[in-house]
Amino acid sequence: MNTKDKMASVEPVRLGPESTFKFKCHPGVACFTECCRDINIILTPYDIIRLKNRLDLSSEEFLALYTEPQMLEKTGLPVVTLKFLNENRKDAERKMCPFVRENGCLVYDDRPTTCRYYPLGVASLSHKEDADGDEFYFFVHEPHCLGFKENKLWTVREWRKDQGVDIHDEINAEWTDLVVRKRSFPPNMQLTEQTKQMFFMVSYNLDKFSEFVFGSTFLQRYEVDAAILEEIKNDEIALLKFGLKWLKWLLFKEGGFKLKADTQIATP
Ligand code: SF4
Ligand code: SF4
Repeated sequence: MNTKDKMASVEPVRLGPESTFKFKCHPGVACFTECCRDINIILTPYDIIRLKNRLDLSSEEFLALYTEPQMLEKTGLPVVTLKFLNENRKDAERKMCPFVRENGCLVYDDRPTTCRYYPLGVASLSHKEDADGDEFYFFVHEPHCLGFKENKLWTVREWRKDQGVDIHDEINAEWTDLVVRKRSFPPNMQLTEQTKQMFFMVSYNLDKFSEFVFGSTFLQRYEVDAAILEEIKNDEIALLKFGLKWLKWLLFKEGGFKLKADTQIATP
C-alpha cells in the first residue's frame, strides 16, 4: 500500500527484498527537505503511537492538531493524513509538513512509515510473516530528488532495516492485512457507520479504545484472559494488537474472540 501520493512518476519496476538501488540522502544534497512538501501522507496506527508519544500528546490531541480525515479509496475505511501547512514563500504556494525545518525533520527518530520508505513505495498485499512473496516495492522517483545520483548501494531489505521500517511493518501487519482484505470486498458490501467508527478508534485513538475496553460494557460482553487484560493496560503496542484482533473478528468473524453467554452483537 503506497501511502505517499504526489505528482511523482512512479517507476513501473517491481522490486523485491533483494533488488538493489543506489541512493543516499543527507543534509548536503541540494534538494534537502524538498520531499517534505506537497505530499499526502496516510498515517498508520504505529505512526500515531510514535508521534503522539514524541510530542507528549494524547492520541485525541494529536489527531486534532496534526491530522486530517480521509476515506481510503476502494475500502470506505476512515484513515488520517498528516495535516500540512501553507508555506509562506513569494515564489510558490506549497504545502509543507508541520515537522519540517531548514535543518531537517523535527521528529526524525519517530517519523512516519511512509517517510522511512521513501524513495521507495510499498505495494504490499500483506506484511504478515507468512506472506513472503506477496510484498513488493517500487521507486517513487520524483524529479527533484537527487539522492539517486549518490553512490551508496542498498538492497531493499537493507534499506527497510536501516530506516527502521521493518519494525513499523511488523507492528502494523494486522492493520495492513485488514485494509487489504477490505479492499477486495465486493463494492456492495458496505460496513456500518458503527464498524467504521470502531476501525478508526482502534487504528488511531488508542486512548479512547482503552477507555472503551475498561470503561464500557466491553468486558461484560467478551471473554478476555486476565493476563491479556493486565498486558493491554500497560502496553500500547499490546493494546493495538489486541484491538486489531478484535477488529478482525468484527469484520471477518475470525481471530478467536469469544462472546460471553447471552451476548448479542450486530454484524458489520
Ligand atoms: S515527518 Fe519528517 S520526514 Fe516526514 S514529511 Fe514530515 S518532516 Fe519530512
Ligand atoms: S528529495 Fe530525495 S535526496 Fe532530497 S532530501 Fe528528499 S529524499 Fe533526500
